[in-house]
Amino acid sequence: MHNQLEGAPLKVVETGATLTVTTNATDYRYRGITNPNHTCEDGRPLKAGDMVVVQRVAPNRDMLVKGPCSCNYLLYGLVSEPPHNLDNPLDRVREWMTVRFALNTERDLWVWLFVIGAAAHLEYLAVAVLWVADQKPAPFEQYSKRTLGQAAHQIQERGLLDPATVKRLKGIAELRNSVVHRGATYGVPFREGDPSRGQYKGKHVFTDPAGLRELMDDMDAATEAMGQWLRNKGLDTDGGTPA
Ligand SMILES: [Zn+2]
Repeated sequence: MHNQLEGAPLKVVETGATLTVTTNATDYRYRGITNPNHTCEDGRPLKAGDMVVVQRVAPNRDMLVKGPCSCNYLLYGLVSEPPHNLDNPLDRVREWMTVRFALNTERDLWVWLFVIGAAAHLEYLAVAVLWVADQKPAPFEQYSKRTLGQAAHQIQERGLLDPATVKRLKGIAELRNSVVHRGATYGVPFREGDPSRGQYKGKHVFTDPAGLRELMDDMDAATEAMGQWLRNKGLDTDGGTPA
């Protein structure tokens, strides 16, 4: 949709709670419109039947269009998109991910990404704790690799962090493993074949908002605990890589 629409005429279909423009083949529905500071004589809001010409389409699909008066209106917050164009590699990726892992909704996709991201973030901090406890035997980038689960185990063995934090790290590592290994191909948000998939503290994070909230709170708490531990050792991680 990005560039091929630039210069194309679109017809305004409706301007109610949302605003829809169409190429006749495809509708684009937007959440809102920013009206221009008209430099023309007879500036007015767009109405159904107006023709506009696409000036620019931003990466987030916001669209700048020239109205009948020649001033530019900004359409923002695309609600519905045309069907995927499978010649486009990114659309092929989306299609494959959706079908392969049954990530059928935005919520499923974002929860999945969050689980993976949260685990990566905690892994970084947990390894930093071990690195400092080992008195930085090598530059951080070269310090021996380990997963979040392994790091949590070592932190526990060495009594570096409180048991509640260790429990959170292990739980989040298990949750992450449940949705990134081969079992995930049954469908990330589903539990067929493995009831533990997507479960955190007995709650299913893809369908239970309380479970997702708890996951978020525990991630924050573990982040805070490890950040505090590192600060106590005089190590400030705010700037990125521990130094
Ligand atoms: Zn105008």
